[in-house]
Amino acid sequence: MDEGSVVSAVAERLYYDVDSGLEFQAVVTGVRPGPQRVGKDGQEEPLWSVALDRTAFYPAGGGQPWDTGVLVGAPGSERAFQVEVERVEEDEAGEVWHTLCEPVSVGARVTGRVDAERRMDHAQQHTGQHLLSAIFLRELGAPTVSFHLGADSVTIDLQVDKVSEEDLRGVEDAVNRVIFEDRRMRPRWVAREEAERMLERGELRKLPERAGRMRIVEMEGVEFNACGGTHVRSTGAIGGLLVRRLEKVRQGQRVEFCCGLRAVRMARQDYARLRETGALLSVGPAELASRVAGLIEDRKQRAKERKLLEKQVREMEERLRAQTQGGSAGE
Ligand SMILES: [Zn+2]
Repeated sequence: MDEGSVVSAVAERLYYDVDSGLEFQAVVTGVRPGPQRVGKDGQEEPLWSVALDRTAFYPAGGGQPWDTGVLVGAPGSERAFQVEVERVEEDEAGEVWHTLCEPVSVGARVTGRVDAERRMDHAQQHTGQHLLSAIFLRELGAPTVSFHLGADSVTIDLQVDKVSEEDLRGVEDAVNRVIFEDRRMRPRWVAREEAERMLERGELRKLPERAGRMRIVEMEGVEFNACGGTHVRSTGAIGGLLVRRLEKVRQGQRVEFCCGLRAVRMARQDYARLRETGALLSVGPAELASRVAGLIEDRKQRAKERKLLEKQVREMEERLRAQTQGGSAGE
């Protein structure tokens, strides 16, 4: 096995083609030692980075996390193996490196399988972000300046001073209507000059710096976006978008949202918390706010009464002391 860094021609990216699927055949073109990792027993474990001639694994980029999955030794390869792909990153030369916990030989034939659930989740959140940003821009003139897709939360930052509750609900409803309309997502490649013309015509809001061909993703009737990420095939597969929170940040307003099954899980979790809290107070979720408001009012009232009682006790103590001192002075 060659453990040195074998520089290969850059991998063909199968994830750009929406019809390519999540299982693919490839040949290992490069292997190099990857980062160290601390294992369960506290010992450092070596990891390996592997390049392939073609890959359906999306590397981290554009605010979207990497795909995970497995590489399996294809029939006819030297030995049978199945190794997990833990991380996928693109280097400055544009090569895609798959991080594995064991090395694989250069020249080995492999079958790659991308974790479908994780990919679908990321594609739903990411496509939902395209749509949410487009509607905020259209309805409120509020451009998106950053996007974060984490395991627990998805946010966009809007360059705008204030968003009213009514405007926020209006945007959320408009987004969900586009989801129900099931608009097509159409990625295509265009020359840089063509992308620049689209920018001039106002069809594109911004363009990445780099030269060469651009991947333009059209959301039918909604927007064009220069993007290399993974998307669902049509807006219906976003499944629904739920806005959870709006908060003031330095550059504007941060909107937390979630889409698809993630939105269902979040809503389920929120409702379970409401139900648990309601059970402690023997009320249903709908009466929870008025019950808590009543308890707060009760507490305020008791604090007032307590203050009054403490004042009366202090006054009585002072009177008693004065009487005792007056009595002893008279003897
Ligand atoms: Zn995108």
